[in-house]
Amino acid sequence: MSVTTQHEQMVEELRAADKLLLTTHENPDGDALGSLLAMHGTLEQLGKDSVMYMSPDEFPLSHEYRHMTFDGLLGAAPDDLADRVVVFLDCGNIDRMPVDFLQDEGIKILNIDHHHDNTNFGTVNLVVPEASCTAEIVFDLARQLGAEVTAEIASSLYVGLVTDTGRFSYENTSPSAHRMAADLIEAGVNTHAVYRRLFEDLPFRRLELLARALTTVARYEEGRITIAMLSRSDFEETGALESDSEGIVDHLRSVEGTKAAILVRELLSDGKRGCRKVSLRATDGSVDVSVIARQLGGGGHRQAAGFTTRLSPDDLVSTLRDQVAAQA
Ligand code: 5GP
Ligand code: MN
Repeated sequence: MSVTTQHEQMVEELRAADKLLLTTHENPDGDALGSLLAMHGTLEQLGKDSVMYMSPDEFPLSHEYRHMTFDGLLGAAPDDLADRVVVFLDCGNIDRMPVDFLQDEGIKILNIDHHHDNTNFGTVNLVVPEASCTAEIVFDLARQLGAEVTAEIASSLYVGLVTDTGRFSYENTSPSAHRMAADLIEAGVNTHAVYRRLFEDLPFRRLELLARALTTVARYEEGRITIAMLSRSDFEETGALESDSEGIVDHLRSVEGTKAAILVRELLSDGKRGCRKVSLRATDGSVDVSVIARQLGGGGHRQAAGFTTRLSPDDLVSTLRDQVAAQA
């Protein structure tokens, strides 16, 4: 089906639905949260009964998103779930929302996303890999539904746009991404205020965590791989939260000669002892990190991907070296 037809079909589905439940992926990033809020605001404006769901485990959200408020957010299945159309935003596969009630066979799912490896798990799917962010797709849908993109909706969309494009620096920063930015600014986004909230005014523990990560940096394959590791004790001793590691991998990415930048961090919850989260970033496109992530049970974009593993640090490093070498 062509993208246009898929767009039209999604617009029809959203128009027809009266009761909806919106959600996104676990460990939500700016695009996940911004798309969720913007879609919710749009549907409410159209007079629909929309509720948002995120697991209580996601809170507190990463510091940069602390100003985003989710009025009426649900932390469990509503009693009338069976009457609701479930909308997934920015979620490449259903395992990224490991919540039982959302895995039920009977529910109708609208899947709106831009991951090229999306598994089309929805009843109806709108997957647009060319979109810089899911927020860009939501922006299109909102206009096609005839909603007014208020300053509030625009600000949520802008969070998705600015975070998923790496502040308009990644390959996905298309002309339409910049046009969208212009439209959102005209709709009332205060870009400097959003920037300050997202990228500045950070707790000092973040700098301390970064400092620790930088002392562990190792380079392999003539510097093609730049990797850093954070242990449980790094978090405990700095008082840092898991989400405080956000952005560290970008420092690794910026090193000359790097083709794959990798941050490995030990997970902190007791149920995940021995588990590590691996964040992968590509630089010039010579390595497709989504391939590596998929091989190891995760996924993502060609330039930014991730997975969770129980491999020991040594085994993990040798596996990652083999994977990068295999793409040389
Ligand atoms: P991050 O390294 O910031 O956690 O994730 C970067 C990107 O990789 C995310 O936007 C997402 O697309 C993808 N990603 C991260 N972790 C996972 C995972 O465990 N499974 C899948 N399928 N994708 C992931
Ligand atoms: Mn996204």
